[in-house]
Amino acid sequence: MDKLIDKKQIELFNSVVEEAQKIVIVPHVNPDGDAIGAALGLWQALKNMKKHVEVVVPNDFPEFLQWINGSSGVLDFEKDKVKAQDIFDGADTLIVVDFNDFERAEHMSGTLLGFKGTRVMIDHHPQPVAKCELMFSYPEISSTCELIFRILSQAGKQQFIDVNSAEAIFTGMMTDTGNFSYNANTPDTYHIIGELLKKGIDKDKVHSNVYHTFSENRWRLIGHSLKEKMVILPEYNTGYISLSNEELAKFDFQPGDTEGLVNYPLMVKDIVFSVLFTEKDDLVKLSLRSKGEFSANQFAREHFNGGGHNNAAGGKTTLKIDEAVEKFRSLLPQYLSSLKS
Ligand code: 5GP
Ligand code: MN
Repeated sequence: MDKLIDKKQIELFNSVVEEAQKIVIVPHVNPDGDAIGAALGLWQALKNMKKHVEVVVPNDFPEFLQWINGSSGVLDFEKDKVKAQDIFDGADTLIVVDFNDFERAEHMSGTLLGFKGTRVMIDHHPQPVAKCELMFSYPEISSTCELIFRILSQAGKQQFIDVNSAEAIFTGMMTDTGNFSYNANTPDTYHIIGELLKKGIDKDKVHSNVYHTFSENRWRLIGHSLKEKMVILPEYNTGYISLSNEELAKFDFQPGDTEGLVNYPLMVKDIVFSVLFTEKDDLVKLSLRSKGEFSANQFAREHFNGGGHNNAAGGKTTLKIDEAVEKFRSLLPQYLSSLKS
């Protein structure tokens, strides 16, 4: 395995961990498989080093991740603000995972900005914004979970990755690559999976826990989205789906239920850009995906107050959902040449 991580950063990581008395780990808002996998994989490894460590999430995470060891001890800032604030007040070390701008913690960003101790960032998104004493920013690595594995290994701490930590790490590597269908072309990724298998993970169980535990409502929502709501614009090689508050309520929407939905339009021949619009109270959230050169990140940054990776980004707007869709459609002509190339 290539030693990609900067040696000085590894040395600093080792001294930060050694000195830390109370560590708090934080993933981004609406945490996904990589964010939760990274938080809990690292949490378990640090616990195995006999460290005092807690995970605080900005808001709830999907049920299909709640089997991961340590989930039940995770504190939800939205639900238990007083207790969460206590943890921050008592901690001397903050580790943020899978994001690089404190704004991505939304209602928790003030707490992160005001944190007085040592701050560590472990992330794989481009263009970091947050300033931390130690910043692992590696956009070339496909998941934060893979990055965590690499850091612990290079730091000489691989023995602290037990089977629980390994399962959490595998979860994020799997979900951030669409079950190894994209951003998963380097031999090292599979070398690491080999190492995780040696730790005793049941890869098929992890896959089944994440991908084969849909509620009936979730499938019905997918059916409704594909049959009634998917719009394909062949002239722009683009597709989109929009879901209103009412539609989501009709299918008893739970966090995570729309995960993966944005990928369906991309499965249509020649489609290179896909957007999912979901209404959340008076905000509309956008999930953007692209194939090849077209930058979903740039589109989200320039027009929808967001960002992410080249081929997977997110954004938001206070427009009504129909207005958001209209704005999106009206922007497409200016991208015609890049969408068609
Ligand atoms: P998703 O569509 O799965 O919510 O997010 C796709 C990618 O875009 C993820 O890497 C996520 O971290 C990033 N992302 C999602 N929403 C936002 C946002 O509002 N701002 C920024 N900067 N990145 C986002
Ligand atoms: Mn990630």
